[in-house]
Amino acid sequence: MTATGNSAASRDKAFVLHPYTNLHAHETQGPLIIERGEGVRVYDDAGNAYIEAMASLWCVSLGWGEERLVQAAAKQMRQLSSYHIFGHKSHEPGIDLAEKLIKLAPVPMSKVFFANSGSEANDTAVKLIWYYNNALGRPEKKKILARTRGYHGVTVASASLTGLPNNHRDFDLPIARILHADCPHHYRNAHPGESEEDFATRLAEQLEAQILAEGPDTVAAFFAEPIMGAGGVVVPPATYYEKIQAVLKKYDILLVADEVICGFGRTGTFWGSQTLGMRPDILTCAKQLSSGYLPISAVMVSEAVYRACVDESKKIGTFGHGYTYSAHPVAAAVALETLAIYEERDILGHVRDVAVPFQKRLKALADHPLVGEVRGTGLIGALELVADKATKANFDPVGRAGAVVNTLAQENGLIVRAMGDSIALCPPLVIGEDDVHQVFDRLTTALDAAIPVLRG
Ligand code: PMP
Repeated sequence: MTATGNSAASRDKAFVLHPYTNLHAHETQGPLIIERGEGVRVYDDAGNAYIEAMASLWCVSLGWGEERLVQAAAKQMRQLSSYHIFGHKSHEPGIDLAEKLIKLAPVPMSKVFFANSGSEANDTAVKLIWYYNNALGRPEKKKILARTRGYHGVTVASASLTGLPNNHRDFDLPIARILHADCPHHYRNAHPGESEEDFATRLAEQLEAQILAEGPDTVAAFFAEPIMGAGGVVVPPATYYEKIQAVLKKYDILLVADEVICGFGRTGTFWGSQTLGMRPDILTCAKQLSSGYLPISAVMVSEAVYRACVDESKKIGTFGHGYTYSAHPVAAAVALETLAIYEERDILGHVRDVAVPFQKRLKALADHPLVGEVRGTGLIGALELVADKATKANFDPVGRAGAVVNTLAQENGLIVRAMGDSIALCPPLVIGEDDVHQVFDRLTTALDAAIPVLRG
């Protein structure tokens, strides 16, 4: 197909295969072209401004146009624009970043492996877990549990971990040995009258039953986002991780915390693991590691996992895993500068302050006639649209209400993200209080405008 016109929109339709897009609808609808960004706002090619209440895809923590990150990239580009760390090579940006991450880790961690995306980090974690169990002489202990509605990426293993139908259907996934446990969403999955604690107890019992049915000697690890992001911002019930971790410990199953969204202050502590009380053996992170300015991700592993891998490599030689751009020096330099800014500007303190009005305005939306539930903590949240608040019935078909509100928000200068009928908010961490109010004012306008569309 060739472009029918010279506009960027027509060339987009002619040449771009879009990720995560309804490809059929895109052929008529075309793209919204974003031209530039400044602070918490992005601007389209017609000059319209939008408050970016999703920080792009949960990542641009410092907002757009942070000159220090531009300078850090330019400086590193001039000095050593690209280099690998295979076969005993190394460079200071990679070393410095690894050291920094180990210092920041929520629990003692031993080593850092670098990749380029959250998906690659999680695929790496899967491979490390398999390598680790081979090293320990337990070749049968390889199954990995993730959760329904969890999101861990789209590469073959990470998409298998992801517990969302669209990531499996027609892709012939999940692959063997990846299983899904129940989603800890109290609003949707608790029994009538079941308390959060009782629901958490039941989930832990169900997990134990699943492990026993599979055979504990075959189950290697459990992957969890502290708060599920792309599955609809699901905050687990009180006492959930405490109970889940007791089960994992009993059967010698590793815990992987996927901190790709929750890491670096999003939930009001530095790591989601700290907010939720997780003690992971492996931690994956990405996105806000570099404020989303360059692709970089990291996998931190405990000394026990690392030591077993070293022993295995002693037997078989090279640890046969790594990406050309593992610890890319420019991405690493930008990540280091990002972490320096977090500290210097006390971004965590700022998140805690601004989370107060953010969560207050979010909770207030629970009274809106279209909203069944609001959920969130720190600077992440979501609301779930329902046709009937009493019965929690969805609008039919599921996903339409979310799409309607999404479009109306965009028309009101606000970018949010619809996941089914949940509307997520995850603004840049640097958002100020005035803009928090702007976000909720515009969202309320969109919700009000959606009533006649959905009920009319
Ligand atoms: N894990 C989580 C929790 C994520 O939210 C995402 C991306 N949204 C990923 C992994 C995958 O990251 P990427 O898109 O960079 O591969």
